[in-house]
Amino acid sequence: MKAAIEKTVQRELRKLPSVDKLLKEAGIQAMLREHSHKLTVTAIQEVLADTRQAILSGDMCPSKVNLSARVATRLSNLLRPSLYPVINATGVILHTNLGRAPLSLAAQEAMQETSAYSNLEYDLPAGKRGSRHVHAEELLCRLTEAEAGLVVNNDAGAVLLILTALAKGREVIISRGQLVEIGGGFRIPEVMAQSGARLVEVGTTNRTYLWDYEAALTPDTAMLLHVHTSNFRLIGFSHQTPLADLVTLAQQHDLLAVEDLGSGALLDTAQFGLSHEPAVPESLATGVDLVCFSGDKLLGGPQAGIILGKKALIDVLKRHPLTRALRVSKTVIAGLQATLLHYLKGEALEQVPVWRMLTMDIEQIEPRAAALVEWLRDAGVQATVIAGFSAVGGGSLPGETLPTGLVAIDVDAPHELAQRLRLGSPPVIGRIERDAFVLDLRTVLPSEEAALEQALKATL
Ligand SMILES: *Cc1c(COP(=O)(O)O)cnc(C)c1O
Repeated sequence: MKAAIEKTVQRELRKLPSVDKLLKEAGIQAMLREHSHKLTVTAIQEVLADTRQAILSGDMCPSKVNLSARVATRLSNLLRPSLYPVINATGVILHTNLGRAPLSLAAQEAMQETSAYSNLEYDLPAGKRGSRHVHAEELLCRLTEAEAGLVVNNDAGAVLLILTALAKGREVIISRGQLVEIGGGFRIPEVMAQSGARLVEVGTTNRTYLWDYEAALTPDTAMLLHVHTSNFRLIGFSHQTPLADLVTLAQQHDLLAVEDLGSGALLDTAQFGLSHEPAVPESLATGVDLVCFSGDKLLGGPQAGIILGKKALIDVLKRHPLTRALRVSKTVIAGLQATLLHYLKGEALEQVPVWRMLTMDIEQIEPRAAALVEWLRDAGVQATVIAGFSAVGGGSLPGETLPTGLVAIDVDAPHELAQRLRLGSPPVIGRIERDAFVLDLRTVLPSEEAALEQALKATL
């Protein structure tokens, strides 16, 4: 029996054509007119290697025509970028795996416009070298009343830079309740170790008082660090020392007080019926020396780490070699500026997609969901609008849920439908809830609805 199988495998393997033979196939000859010889040979080699593996696991050798078709598919996959747009129908607004904040149209345009030459580091009136730091700094200071600001690659980079430049070889005191892991490998203790600052943990997981910080002060203390527990909520018997108290203590002892805010909202979330997320101006108003946060969380801009606060300290950071290593590109600065301008113009709620989605009423979502259900029924697919919840995500406003109307598609195998939609064009990402496949239109831009319908039509 075993010998017979072995014999079949050997026979099928012998049928597998060589690269040279396949190159002579009419289908492949056509491909060679469009693609380079090298790329076509690469595709052929990869297809032959895969096919050999399949034969070894018991498959029959496919025909040359079939192999040519596989080479064509491989070629188009090789030439397709692996990063492309998807439709986020999960209802998670800041979905880290789907690129966090979707940018406003103005931000997208600004990024595209500056992707060629720009006055990035060129002082136009003076006709000489300028600084890339000026572009976002002025706007950030105007919006938050900070003395000075600096933009780096992301918030993790901002924390690393602050600790390295201002506390290396010295002690930084932090509450045990704030030794957070943000996800994706960002853990406060590890970033501290990387910076060369020494971590001094005080208090307990659930309660830390001002006197815990006070008792830990030594001549080596450089900084009191307050980290916003942005992705979880401590409820019940808990106490964190307010930032304002830390600032007072730091000032009394000539130390720095720094807050890692994480989300960095410029607007007060509480005025929209959401729970209160400390806003940047509020944090600065305590007199904190520096505050840092992400550009692509509640700010709704491109990936960036924003540091605001005392000018003398920002000047030290600007001169540090790490700042060069963590600097942002011209396109990011352009996208950030355009996003900040929405706030300056007072149009952030309408223009910044994150805020539009956050403040969208269920009355705005349900009619869109009902229309999609209607469209699906016309296409012969059973669907209904059911009540559910959207999430903020991205380590912002943990536990906060926003009532929404979900489009529930009634199929026997929801996981299979989810996969087919993920592999469609454009890919659609939904979620499974109570054994149904659901789409939440809160996170689907109105401009994406036609493409969503097309993707559903092609799949269902
Ligand atoms: C999200 C977050 C970070 C990491 O921000 P990135 O911009 O992703 O680097 C750091 N600290 C806190 C408190 C956060 O919430």
